[in-house]
Amino acid sequence: MNVTHIEHIGIAVKDLNEAIRYYEKVFGFKCYSIEEVKEQKVRTAFFMVGQTKIELLESTDPEGPIGKFIEKKGEGIHHVAFAVKNIEGALHEAEGNGVELIDKAPHKGAEGLDIAFFHPKSTFGVLTEICEDKKY
Ligand code: ZN
Repeated sequence: MNVTHIEHIGIAVKDLNEAIRYYEKVFGFKCYSIEEVKEQKVRTAFFMVGQTKIELLESTDPEGPIGKFIEKKGEGIHHVAFAVKNIEGALHEAEGNGVELIDKAPHKGAEGLDIAFFHPKSTFGVLTEICEDKKY
């Protein structure tokens, strides 16, 4: 698999605006984008930290994946996302290596990235995303 860097770390929060204020005030990061991803039932906010982003995730529906995550585990790190080249090939390769895939094929995530998730059952408990920016 050709991984170039950690694209982002996804953090589940109850109150997006409050969390944005924290990152802006304490670290001096600037939130450069807020985006709702309807199919994931989340509102996201992004900060650039070097080459890597922080992605804050606020649920728009208690029955959505982030709503359920917070209900079960509370706020905190939700997933880690690796930027890859050739996401279809990377998925295929991971499956061949015994990784249980949540997504057999990539779909569109925030920022227009193609994304897919590995099941935490087969990743030592870390919900793992791979993503590819096909604009480049
Ligand atoms: Zn993500």
